[in-house]
Formats: sequence, structure tokens, C-alpha cells
Amino acid sequence: MDTVFAPHAIAALPVTGSAAAFPVRRVYCVGRNYAGHAREMGSDPTREPPFFFCKPGDADAVVAVPAGRTVEIDYPPATRELHHEVELVVAIGRTAKDVAPADAAASIFGYAVGLDLTRRDLQAQMKAQSRPWEIGKAFDQSAPVGTLRRAADAGTLAEAAIRLEVDGQLRQQGRLDQMIWSVDEIIANLSTLFTLQPGDLIFTGTPEGVGPVERGQTLVGRIDGLEPLQVRLR
Ligand code: MN
Repeated sequence: MDTVFAPHAIAALPVTGSAAAFPVRRVYCVGRNYAGHAREMGSDPTREPPFFFCKPGDADAVVAVPAGRTVEIDYPPATRELHHEVELVVAIGRTAKDVAPADAAASIFGYAVGLDLTRRDLQAQMKAQSRPWEIGKAFDQSAPVGTLRRAADAGTLAEAAIRLEVDGQLRQQGRLDQMIWSVDEIIANLSTLFTLQPGDLIFTGTPEGVGPVERGQTLVGRIDGLEPLQVRLR
């Protein structure tokens, strides 16, 4: 098709053991999916269930972080409080609409470690005014994602440890079985609201311990069984 200017590039994630990359479509995120993080954000996880929000799926927002490399990320504008949130990212490989939790796994292509980078000061201002969160969540380079591992090669991640280190210091630590909504429940729930398509990514929430990062610091996200993700802020 003739376009009035060159189409923008899509984000594409490397896949372990494959020469072909995973083309990204949309980025869905789950909010407050670990009780410890819900509490540190000032809410009561026994009274308020997790919820969804989105980030852009384009190559400006989604940063592919190949295994074994440190990718430089720009400290974003308009904030003094950039926070890390390490998360399991689920990559969708098959259309899912109104699926039951028991059938959700069939739609999963694979998994990666991701960072839901957050301008916490802007998010807090928007929350206080009951306004949308986009300026806190959907900025350029807000979604670094590591190399994907196919579901069949990832083994069972159910109880895997998830961690985040900043300059070698442990900041976040948890286990995937601490999620309030499991991966299957997230997919089932989300698929009643949106038709999930191949290329979609789902950030599944972060354990407690979120906090600020500064220019010059190096972040390493880890989930046992997946490729670590390493970025440096500049
Ligand atoms: Mn998050």
C-alpha cells in the first residue's frame, strides 16, 4: 500500500533458539497482582482485585533487550521519580476470545522478563485527580522486554523466583505463585474484554519492593528459567 510517509517500525523480540523474532502488537498490563505490592501502593488486596491498563506496543515504547547484552535506556522526561517494576511477560501466539482458564495455556507463545517502568510522581498525580495513568506508564522506552523463551522450552514457571537488582543490590524479590490472578486467569479475564491476538504481550504485575532508579544505574531483572534482562539508564 502507498503511504504518505514510511510506516513506522514494529517492535520485535528475540526468541531463544530461533532466528525469527516475535513481532509485538499490543501491550496489556495487570495492576496490583501481588498482595505485597498492592499494600505498598496503599490499597487492600483483600478488597480490591487486580485490574488492567495498557502501554503502546510500538518500537518507541517496547525495547527489545537481547540476552547477554546491556541495553541503554534514556531517563524519561518530566519525572523525578522513575520506578522499576520487574514482571513476568506472557507473549500470546494464538487468538484468544472468551477462553476459560483451563484453555488459556494454548494461547501462550512464550515468556520473558520485562520492566514496567513507571513515572511514579506523574502516576500519583493522575490517581489523586481520578485521571488516566498514561503519562505515568505509556512513555517512550517504558517497556523493556528480554529474550522470549517458548512455552514448551520454559518448563514450569509456576513457583519460579522473580528478582530485580539495581547496581548489584537486591530490590525486589518474590515468586510467581504469589500472583493474585494466575497467568491462566489473567488471559481468561482479559479475553472477555479484548480479543487477544498473536503478538500481544501481557505484563503480569510486580512483587513488592518497587522504588526509584537514577541515571547511570544498571537494572537486572531475573526469573528462574528465563533469560535475564539487563538495562542501564543514561
Ligand atoms: Mn506493573
